[in-house]
Amino acid sequence: MKYHSKWLHATKDFFGYGSMLAIFIHMKRLFTFLLLIASSIQLQAQTETLTLFKADRVFDGTDMHPNGWVLVKGNKIEAVGDSATMQVPASAKIVVLKGMTLMPGMIEGHSHLFLHPYNETSWNDQVLTESRAERTVRAVTHAYATLMAGFTTMRDLGTEGAGYDDVGLKTAINKGIIPGPRMICATRAIVATGSYGPKGLVNEAEVPHGAQEADGNDDLIKAVRTQMGNGADVVKVYADYRWGINDKPEPTFTIDELKLVVEVAASAGRMVVAHCGTEEGMRRAIMAGVKTIEHGDSATPELFALMKEKGAAYCPTISAGEALSSYQGWHKGVDPDPARVAKKHKTFQDALKSGVTILMGGDVGVFPHGDNAREMVLMVEYGMPALDVLRSATSVNADVFGLKDLGNIKPGYLADLVAVDGNPAEDIKAVKQVKMVMKDGVVVKGN
Ligand SMILES: [Zn+2]
Repeated sequence: MKYHSKWLHATKDFFGYGSMLAIFIHMKRLFTFLLLIASSIQLQAQTETLTLFKADRVFDGTDMHPNGWVLVKGNKIEAVGDSATMQVPASAKIVVLKGMTLMPGMIEGHSHLFLHPYNETSWNDQVLTESRAERTVRAVTHAYATLMAGFTTMRDLGTEGAGYDDVGLKTAINKGIIPGPRMICATRAIVATGSYGPKGLVNEAEVPHGAQEADGNDDLIKAVRTQMGNGADVVKVYADYRWGINDKPEPTFTIDELKLVVEVAASAGRMVVAHCGTEEGMRRAIMAGVKTIEHGDSATPELFALMKEKGAAYCPTISAGEALSSYQGWHKGVDPDPARVAKKHKTFQDALKSGVTILMGGDVGVFPHGDNAREMVLMVEYGMPALDVLRSATSVNADVFGLKDLGNIKPGYLADLVAVDGNPAEDIKAVKQVKMVMKDGVVVKGN
């Protein structure tokens, strides 16, 4: 009975007034708890850093605006305007960029963080004699130099014998272990068997390769999928190389092989980029659906027209050709232009006339990291209007590389910003005068 009455009491308490009170207390506690969460969220929103940049001019990725204001909240661009259209929020830190232009963090289109200038160490010796540890340490310093030069994003188009170390580097940057730009990685790149270096060694020597060799259906599919599985954001192929008789550049893959690479990469959401130095290699790459053509030293007006038709973009890498010529003894401005440089002037003019999309990418690594803007100066020198070069290095590269929230100063975009001294639309060299770099809402250079 005792137990019975206890049970009854409990039941009464559960369904009776006592329990109503308990539920009320619980609900009150829950409500208080929810209120606390809400207020802490509000507090977080209030404490999220608010910075208002007031610059002499703002290049938003498309056009130049005098006396521009840009408000950054957390890691995003909150508002863009000027003194007439915007109010200064009470809690905002105000940064006056006197005499400066505020622009989107620049995007390097063609880099090799695991290479350093060939006049320091030849490409062969870098691949064959530098340890992976040394190459990684160098890459860490290169990533830092790139970021300090105002390039907050970059495409790394091949580690040249350093395997998937670009993906490891990217991970370390994203975890905040080392400073560096956002990275789009190509990992090892793919070459046809026998076409790529290092060469000139005894046949029996087992040495590291500058890229992964693969041919034919099964082999190529496996190589593309393996690279993507190991972190490749883009797939790079060499559509031709200097492997002809007497090292003449000749095509490598057949058009069917290239089409297969494009199909396999596309089915996993990746685009394909191709190194092209011959007319035929470039034609095959364009017809196969390659998205960006690198170098294109033998491009013709017909090939540029074909690129336009197929929606491929051109990454000229003017700097690489000039740097290699200078390493071979050419003194720019003193000696006449070597054939390679003269030809590039003509090719670039043809590209400009064709209206093909032109990217900004210099093949940095062949020349020093951190001097990425050298390519922009050369693009102007070779005939491209400065404002178009600024667009290439920001909104155009972002668009072609599929970076939906970068390369522009617009509300909702990521706060990757650079302040340079002077007006780069008037004198492109101003992009080398980097005074402030913000990446993901954090100032990494300047104040
Ligand atoms: Zn390259």
